[in-house]
Amino acid sequence: MNSEFQGIGMTSQRSRDRLAEQLREMGICSNEVLEAIRRIPRHIFVDEALASRAYDNTALPIGHNQTISQPYIVARMVEALLEEGTPEKVLEIGTGCGYQTAILSRLVKRVYSIERIDALLNKAREKFYALKCRNISARHGDGNLGWLQYQPFDGIIVSAAPTGVPNTLLEQLAVNGRLIIPVGRSGEQELVTIVRTDEGFTEKRLDWVSFVPMLEGIG
Ligand code: SAH
Repeated sequence: MNSEFQGIGMTSQRSRDRLAEQLREMGICSNEVLEAIRRIPRHIFVDEALASRAYDNTALPIGHNQTISQPYIVARMVEALLEEGTPEKVLEIGTGCGYQTAILSRLVKRVYSIERIDALLNKAREKFYALKCRNISARHGDGNLGWLQYQPFDGIIVSAAPTGVPNTLLEQLAVNGRLIIPVGRSGEQELVTIVRTDEGFTEKRLDWVSFVPMLEGIG
């Protein structure tokens, strides 16, 4: 890693190791997820002024009224995605600053990510390039519509909360594929795992969560 990515002081490898250890104590068991948390420099995904807080286990503002998700939630969602084996093709809705996308790119074969705010997407793309994450395809669009061209997906992970699960995302899930999604209005959102089976879908609730709303159309 070059020195900017490696970081010093509050953004050093020690800070990443400490964050991974904290997430393990909070119940994240997957060693590969914890290793990705140790490897991906979260501080390059936030404003320089916030870099010293990048390894706190909190959400932080990334502009345009959006936030970078809390590391625990990223780890929890990615762990839920990998629970029954590693999916090959994963669709992510809500690229945001791209941190979770970069984590996913270390763990699965190919990541397709959709963001409705062009300016965020462009900044995220620069980070993927700098970190040499070459298995990510990211595009500007409305995630409610999924990504028809590359469906079906073995996994779909949604980083913004719709009030109900979009049917289109269920349709673009492969059999045995897993959809990890926060659902509900602000203040009453639940993170759920939906698995597509031969007969239909099963649903499991994971946690109460707080995400920005999933909006319609592009920004
Ligand atoms: N995992 C990201 C989370 C960013 S916040 C990170 O850690 O940075 C959620 C993101 O979802 C925001 O960037 C928001 O613009 C985006 N979003 C909301 N509704 C969307 C939609 N319909 N399609 C695509 N992206 C959407």
